[in-house]
Amino acid sequence: MRFSQYPINTTKETPAEAEVLSHQLMLRAGLIRRVAAGIYSWLPLGLRVVRKVEQIIREEMNRAGALEILMPAVQPGELWQESGRWSEYGPELLRFKDRHERDFVIGPTHEEVVTDIARRELRSYRQLPVNFYQIQTKFRDEVRPRFGVMRGREFIMKDAYSFHADEASMAAGYAAMRAAYARMFTRMQLNFRSVQADSGAIGGSSSEEFQVLADSGEDAIAVSDGDTYASNIELAAAMPPNQPRPAPTQPLEEVATPRMKTIAEVSEFLKVPREQCQKLLLVDGSDGGVVALVLRGDHELNALKAQKLPGVANPLRMASAAAIRAATGSEPGFLGPVGLKCPLYADHAALHMADFVCGANAPDLHLRGVNWGRDLPEPRAADLRNVVDGDPSPSGRGQLRIVRGIEVGHIFQLGRKYSQAMNATVLDESGQPVTMLMGCYGIGVTRIVAASIEQNHDERGIIWPAPLAPFHVVLIPLNLQKSPQVRAAADALYAELVAAGIEVLYDDRDARPGVKFADAELLGIPHRLVLGERGLEAGSCEYRHRRATDNTDVPLASVTAYIAQQLAG
Ligand code: ATP
Ligand code: MG
Repeated sequence: MRFSQYPINTTKETPAEAEVLSHQLMLRAGLIRRVAAGIYSWLPLGLRVVRKVEQIIREEMNRAGALEILMPAVQPGELWQESGRWSEYGPELLRFKDRHERDFVIGPTHEEVVTDIARRELRSYRQLPVNFYQIQTKFRDEVRPRFGVMRGREFIMKDAYSFHADEASMAAGYAAMRAAYARMFTRMQLNFRSVQADSGAIGGSSSEEFQVLADSGEDAIAVSDGDTYASNIELAAAMPPNQPRPAPTQPLEEVATPRMKTIAEVSEFLKVPREQCQKLLLVDGSDGGVVALVLRGDHELNALKAQKLPGVANPLRMASAAAIRAATGSEPGFLGPVGLKCPLYADHAALHMADFVCGANAPDLHLRGVNWGRDLPEPRAADLRNVVDGDPSPSGRGQLRIVRGIEVGHIFQLGRKYSQAMNATVLDESGQPVTMLMGCYGIGVTRIVAASIEQNHDERGIIWPAPLAPFHVVLIPLNLQKSPQVRAAADALYAELVAAGIEVLYDDRDARPGVKFADAELLGIPHRLVLGERGLEAGSCEYRHRRATDNTDVPLASVTAYIAQQLAG
């Protein structure tokens, strides 16, 4: 492409509305333009990157045996009524009526439409398994669209849906998608982890997210520094300490702590670290009573873990003030495990404490020098907390680091949720109708463009990894307008590179070299060629990789071969 024919403006200034770097750079480089909150146009250079992402996804989906289809953005409300999601899906679902007053939605996802296709087309177990995928525009009326295309309202997704006759086939289909995702994200040169996720409301047995590691990510995840273990913080197991609990050294004593209700206040007032204090939370029991949960002062309760414990109400509910008073005789803020009559669980870390500080179950009083086994019975131990930085990895190798991630993909075993509601059956070997099992697999195509920039940039701009770059090479002639020799040589080199199948951005604009260099760096084209009069006389061209700091002189006659070699390597 000739830059002179490209009317898109780049800017030096950081746009005020962009909080994260990828958004700033995408606006500055003219990849996208905002149309409305969370709604963007893709300009030529940006669209070329989107197409590269899509191409890699297509190749790997096809290789995995999935079949590409294209479903409509506009979907009839009846399908959503049938699945039950018409009433379940909140305001993220954009609903409208057509001229006949019929309900429609703009698809945020396509389980309903694809299940409708499957129940019409698939008759026999012999036609299974099948995996239909599409790359298509979604609309979700997000509460807080932000970070540009990272969390847009309209965005491009690759969504795939597989149909199976039995659980084993669903698990195999899921495993195949998992492998395909790992190949795609590796080819895109993303630094990613696959993370065990909570399948939450959708149900189904298994679910994993693919997270691109980046400080601007919205999700906190726990990753091991010793292997590839990664987990949603909420799901990561906090391992019991592997040394024995220290022996008691202090006597038990009561201390006055007037109005000191929080761990922070108590630890400061008594001059003991927060890790030496305990906090006790009372939650509703499953039998109508209350259950006490004890945590180390600096740790956070994990509701998902707590609500799975025998005797604890699921979903987890904090006990009412009246129930707390009835069980402890005290107000919240001064609760502790000593003398408590209700069932009690101590987190492994709390169980490992000696000489600790806790509430005395009396107003304005705490206890210190408290020891399990001596001053109160040994409690039941449980994993009750969120993991923190430095915890041992549940994989047994390395320590956990809490890092941030951008979710670029999500795979699910859905089971029969939609096929049952929508009556999608096939005939089995004995001619009986059986409800199909489903998997679903999403990728945020446009989000990947932003995620890649989050991982690949410097102070001068974007640095595209070769497989996603809008162009392989930027060709910058110097003094083109004044030197017919340079123009002739640059035109010839451009033609030669293009003929060799190399994607070239030819900066033939009437602009100062400084402007061209700055734009080349902002746009992040991986390979740069500079052609000037002096080089021409010597029969050479200057080459530099976007990540390099030095130029290499390459003989003009072998530039194309040289670039081809760089691209292959
Ligand atoms: P999130 O937790 O980020 O809202 P999600 O769980 O709602 O994501 P899915 O329904 O699994 O997402 O959609 C599949 C993929 O689509 C996600 O992994 C993500 O990459 C992408 N995606 C989801 N919402 C958006 C959005 N608002 N803008 C851009 N991409 C999105
Ligand atoms: Mg979402």
